[in-house]
Amino acid sequence: MDYKAAFETAVEQVKGEGRYRVFADLKRYRGDFPRAAWTRDDGSQSDVVVWCSNDYVGQGQNPIVTDAMHKAIDEAGSGSGGTRNISGTTHYHVELESELAKLHGKEAALLLTSGFVANEAALATLAKVLPGLIVYSDALNHASMIAGIRNGGAERHVFRHNDLQHLESMLIDAPIDAPKLIAFESVYSMDGDIADLAGTVALAKKYNALTYLDEVHAVGLYGLRGGGVAERDGVLDQIDIIEGTLGKAFGVMGGYIAGDTMLVDTIRSYAAGFIFTTSLPPALTAGALASVRWLTEHNEVRIRHQERAETLKRRFIEVGLPVMPSVSHIVPVLVGDPVHCKLISDMLLHDHNIYVQPINYPTVPRGTERLRFTPTPFHTDAMMDDLVGALDALWSRCNVKRLGGYAA
Ligand SMILES: *Cc1c(COP(=O)(O)O)cnc(C)c1O
Repeated sequence: MDYKAAFETAVEQVKGEGRYRVFADLKRYRGDFPRAAWTRDDGSQSDVVVWCSNDYVGQGQNPIVTDAMHKAIDEAGSGSGGTRNISGTTHYHVELESELAKLHGKEAALLLTSGFVANEAALATLAKVLPGLIVYSDALNHASMIAGIRNGGAERHVFRHNDLQHLESMLIDAPIDAPKLIAFESVYSMDGDIADLAGTVALAKKYNALTYLDEVHAVGLYGLRGGGVAERDGVLDQIDIIEGTLGKAFGVMGGYIAGDTMLVDTIRSYAAGFIFTTSLPPALTAGALASVRWLTEHNEVRIRHQERAETLKRRFIEVGLPVMPSVSHIVPVLVGDPVHCKLISDMLLHDHNIYVQPINYPTVPRGTERLRFTPTPFHTDAMMDDLVGALDALWSRCNVKRLGGYAA
């Protein structure tokens, strides 16, 4: 076996499809978000404006958060020292879990090392402890949910994205007493659309199914306290399991689930992805705790965040750029071709000091390649002037399709 040739073939295939990924070498300026220094291959640097961060409201630079992290390092050191079972449960973990449970109106919460791990661990475990479980999974669910569902080995049905009629047609077919789980997201991060939570909950009740909701792109951002779309829509108490991240709007890192005590205790007791890995370090948990508490009390940040997204969508539409129909803070613009998508992203960076990464297959279906903008409260009108002007010019230069067919 020529291993090297096999790896080369695999990478060449990705390159041939125009979706080979190159990471931009960035260093953020704390206090001047969303500005960052970008280092080119030749070592030279430029200042750029980042338009695609999932640090949605700039919590990664909030002094409340960074001070808490510094303090935790000074008080408790760097690592946690082990798994939660073996001396890795610090007071910070206990406090943060209690805060997260409160945020979602649940009895309990469990911290995991990332949102990916939380989804994988929780969903795989649910399938294992509920024999005969049938999982109903939205077609656009995140890779981490798919991984968990696959690893759990339960019977799996994929319903068309946000299509509750399709979901019901599948639920009807199953024995009423079979254990069922509906796995879905609130804000879908590539299109920016939002699921019908109340409608899904109603179906779950009718067919006696559990609901598992990934609120990764909504925690901290929706609802008066940032409890997510479930809070905004008044259904917090009707969703069985909420999964979130501390790495996006909360600006730190880590993942969690929240739910009833027995359910959380089950995941805690069975999930390999929780049990057999070193727990998050004190600095991250302390930073996340400070971030959650602060963002809970600052609804004006959420209002400004939504306003910035609305403004950017409007300004793109005014110049005929094909904004996809998002109802959230995510502003996707359709390019529809992986080579063009990468080219426009490269030109924005090299010629305009604007960074937005191309979104290509397999993150989105082929033919729907796009640029995905995430304006934060720190993106100014002047930054938007620069962005809209640059994009308008590049759209003409590359002859990419404008509005019509994709009107928002
Ligand atoms: C990013 C993401 C995750 C994973 O969260 P991390 O904390 O980054 O591991 C889970 N679900 C969705 C929908 C995501 O977009």
